[in-house]
Amino acid sequence: MNTLSPYKEATEVILQAGGEPVKLCYQCGLCTGTCPWNTVRSFMVRRIMHEAQLGATDFGSEDVWTCVTCRACVQRCPRGVEIIDVMRAIRRAVASLGLGIVPDALRISAKNIAGAGNPIGEAPEKRNDWAKDLKVRSFASSTEILYFPCCVPSYDPDVKTVARATATIFNKLGIDYGLIGTQARCCGESIRKAGHEDTFQSLVQNNINLFTTNGVKTIVVSSPHCYHTFKNEYPELGGKFEVLHTTQYLASLIEQGKLKLSRRVGINKKVIYSDPCYLGRHNGIYNEPRKILQSIPGLKLIEFPDAREDALCCGGGGGRIWMDTPKGQRFSDMRVEQAVAQGADIIAVACPYCFLNYRDSVLSMGKADTMQVKDISELVAEAI
Ligand code: SF4
Ligand code: SF4
Repeated sequence: MNTLSPYKEATEVILQAGGEPVKLCYQCGLCTGTCPWNTVRSFMVRRIMHEAQLGATDFGSEDVWTCVTCRACVQRCPRGVEIIDVMRAIRRAVASLGLGIVPDALRISAKNIAGAGNPIGEAPEKRNDWAKDLKVRSFASSTEILYFPCCVPSYDPDVKTVARATATIFNKLGIDYGLIGTQARCCGESIRKAGHEDTFQSLVQNNINLFTTNGVKTIVVSSPHCYHTFKNEYPELGGKFEVLHTTQYLASLIEQGKLKLSRRVGINKKVIYSDPCYLGRHNGIYNEPRKILQSIPGLKLIEFPDAREDALCCGGGGGRIWMDTPKGQRFSDMRVEQAVAQGADIIAVACPYCFLNYRDSVLSMGKADTMQVKDISELVAEAI
């Protein structure tokens, strides 16, 4: 009788879970040299690829959960290895097949998403409560745009300002938009990267059915994570919609002369823009957020030393937004330090995860009196 060696079985599990790209790796090590974790701790990306090829993956290692899916390594890999797919496959082997232990914080978020449809575990019927006093219509089949704010601005008391600012702008401009019913669920992008494929598939089917039944054609989103999955992952599962990030939509309105920004939001305030990984490296959107910021009176746009394709992640991708990162290893702290060194007054963000992480960093670093964190939609709402 032929039996597979444990090593071959481990490789097979990873390949079956979507880790096929690992076959291309020829062990040059550029990924390890690129990965931002190695500025704060050791994270041997090349070795993880090699162990996956050999069937020697340690499924119990904390390294399984370390990657923030920022795509910096993929951008540099000379063999085009989709390293994030391999990381995701290893996580799937742990989460779906029980080959290791899912960290507690991630397990709780996954349970909340599977049960309540959002990572916070709030009641689904409260999803649109942020808009109660804003006269936002429900989406109907004739409505032009579905606005989908993401779970964080929908539920987090401090980040609701992002959804509220967006709705305020749309209301002032008379945009024909609406909110979908409270049957909407998390887009699923991060929980998929955290290895929970079954949960992702169930969220997608719920949302596609909901959007299709309601006649949705165009979705404007506040989160680059919703953007990424709606645009790049939903289509192959049957959900084809036009998807725009709010920065793309607002920049197009400025270009068409429909959005005029005339109120000063400060006097020569220096604003620094932090490219979110899922808007920038994952989807190539770099110019629109900058165009908007340059159109706001009273702001002067400055740049991080590493911006655009080289931008440092906030630390929140790949499900790490739900996990604790020890002080001294937080990318968002490093980003705030960089922003201070550049002389910025405001860190402008275009992602709810960046918002959460930078806000926490500014507070924990005692910088809240001198550094503001604002979503671009908030700055636009102030400037109308
Ligand atoms: S950069 Fe690409 S080819 Fe080189 S070790 Fe990393 S994954 Fe392998
Ligand atoms: S995606 Fe980012 S965090 Fe993950 S291994 Fe690559 S460089 Fe490191």
